Amino acid sequence: MGFSSHKRRLVAGNWKMNGLLEEARQFLDGLGENPSPDHVEVALMPPFTLLHPLYEPLRNKDIRLGAQNVYYEPKGAFTGSVSPMMLRDAGCHYVILGHSERRHIIGETNEMIHAKLKAAWENGLEPILCIGEKLEEREAGRTNEVLKEQLSVLADAPANAPLTVAYEPVWAIGTGRTATEEQVAETHAFVHEELVRLGHDCRVLYGGSVNPGNAESLLACPGVEGALVGGASLKAESFTAIIEAAAKAAEE
Ligand code: PEP
Repeated sequence: MGFSSHKRRLVAGNWKMNGLLEEARQFLDGLGENPSPDHVEVALMPPFTLLHPLYEPLRNKDIRLGAQNVYYEPKGAFTGSVSPMMLRDAGCHYVILGHSERRHIIGETNEMIHAKLKAAWENGLEPILCIGEKLEEREAGRTNEVLKEQLSVLADAPANAPLTVAYEPVWAIGTGRTATEEQVAETHAFVHEELVRLGHDCRVLYGGSVNPGNAESLLACPGVEGALVGGASLKAESFTAIIEAAAKAAEE
């Protein structure tokens, strides 16, 4: 089944727990006047502390703002948490949910991710739902089973809810190791099929050690409609090179 790319590609940068104000200023200076090509959407997910200061300068460069997490309650006695309404107030369009670092380091469950998805939609945010298998799961031939389970949080989602999914094999995140083009194409085909079965013909990104050297070939894989980029999004030069690679892949 040949999936692809009727959807506008998205290159989204996840800064994780990195970035001080001065570094953000240098990043913006390095991006140049017009870093977003016509047929590629660009977004950045800095830490919470940089959302307000980055909103206006990113908007001027046609880059959408997103957060890396949200809590599911609207407000109240939840010390240290940030609500969906606060993210909207800070100018966020996107919120990353279910990132493997939150699932596996912080212990976030599918149940929590389900509640967060609902809260994000109720407040007009577009979730980027991250899914991905661990190395031992891939080696045991359980990749599709794991992804299916992670996607099951979408079972009762409204059909037209704004959504992007990012397939990120856990063993490829921050390791310098990327999935082969064959693994990417095969897994994206499965993810698309599963999404269609659940009523969501949405965009699917690839993530996991995407860099300027491998971006073009990864983004050209069938079923890949953009990239979620961690380490290489921290520097304007490498992030811009990945955006350019996405623009090239979109032309093909
Ligand atoms: C990520 O943070 O989602 C990610 C894919 O990180 P990296 O590009 O550094 O592997």
